[in-house]
Amino acid sequence: MGKIQMTTPIVEMDGDEMTRVLWQLIKDKLILPYVDLKSEYYDLGLKHRDETDDQVTVDSANATLKYGVAVKCATITPNDERVKEYSLKKMYKSPNGTIRAILDGTVFRTPIMVKGIEPNVRTWESPITLARHAYGDVYKNVEIRVPGPGKAELVFTGADGTEIRETIHEFTEPGIIQGMHNKDASIESFARACFKYALSEKKELWLGTKDTISKTYDRRFRDIFDEIYEKEFKEDFEKAGITYFYTLIDDAVARVMKSKGGFIWACKNYDGDVMSDMVSSAFGSLAMMTSVLVSPSGVYEYEAAHGTVQRHYYKYLKGEPTSTNPVATIFAWTGALRKRGELDNIKELMEFADKLEKATLSVIESGRMTGDLALITSLPNPVKLGSEEFLDAIAAELETI
Ligand code: NAD
Repeated sequence: MGKIQMTTPIVEMDGDEMTRVLWQLIKDKLILPYVDLKSEYYDLGLKHRDETDDQVTVDSANATLKYGVAVKCATITPNDERVKEYSLKKMYKSPNGTIRAILDGTVFRTPIMVKGIEPNVRTWESPITLARHAYGDVYKNVEIRVPGPGKAELVFTGADGTEIRETIHEFTEPGIIQGMHNKDASIESFARACFKYALSEKKELWLGTKDTISKTYDRRFRDIFDEIYEKEFKEDFEKAGITYFYTLIDDAVARVMKSKGGFIWACKNYDGDVMSDMVSSAFGSLAMMTSVLVSPSGVYEYEAAHGTVQRHYYKYLKGEPTSTNPVATIFAWTGALRKRGELDNIKELMEFADKLEKATLSVIESGRMTGDLALITSLPNPVKLGSEEFLDAIAAELETI
């Protein structure tokens, strides 16, 4: 049988360390034998980012805007140590941050569920996708430590000089104050990305804020979501048989814990930060979490939620065997291939993505898995495989499907 043909290239963003090693193996063993892969390749490995003064990151994001679908390997975000280790010209910004800013996107993280790795929350039967609004609030705040008695005020001076002024607190003693902001445009983009992704995944969308207490700030999130839903998405949601649901954040948390899962949970920046760690650890493992960046215009960039697995890479460099989990990176590829197939109407490509995911999960369910999963599985006598052996087992399984 001939290989599956593609019409539009996928933007391929290569990365660093252990995930870069896995990247090539995944392509060689699981994708290239079956798909006549059309990809536009960008090397986001730290060395090449340095050689191009990080232009390659910008170019890869622009290519994603052009073609609509990208797949990204984990990359190093440089810190002081990395600047020394790689003799960098400067401390480049996080590639994910750069790409997110260009795509104006929202990140959706979804756990990969498999028999044998049970979520800590008994009722969760389907994955919960977490969408975090990654702009503003406490992450772009200003704070003052109040030294003693005095009046704290919130002042807005309009471009025309008009002033709006509110008293925050009349201090009689030392304390603290904080100023935060957000922008309508950013919340609107977040809302559109959430509605688009819910439609694309045919899943319910939940939003929770504290609008009973924060009657202007949090209320603005609720109002923007409501307006955009009514005007732009209600009809399509009804056709798709899905719903948009707003509730208070505390009620949302209570419902999440008792839910069966299977929905998308849109969170404000801080809630998303905290809740994504709760959801991912309760589902089992960071190595089983996928991540997709969705722009409000409907552009998709798929990746694993974890980093470059540095510790394993240093072992690999010493020639020691490693058992790094490639599942989330495989699912980044299947996500991108499926979406490309959907957009270009290539049924075989979508079916291939399904088969590769099925083969991957079957191997785990048969009791063969990487070390991180062997530690937490409920299956009896798991067999721990090295990264490459695990990929070979998936390749063999793929032949039988
Ligand atoms: P990491 O995700 O690489 O590792 C965190 C922990 O989880 C480690 O103990 C690791 O052994 C384990 N782990 C993660 N993925 C695993 C896998 N697939 N198989 C087995 N174990 C796994 O995060 P880190 O160590 O904090 O960061 C390493 C590098 O990754 C840093 O340079 C950081 O900048 C980068 N990073 C990149 C991204 C991204 O590109 N999306 C995300 C996070 C971190």
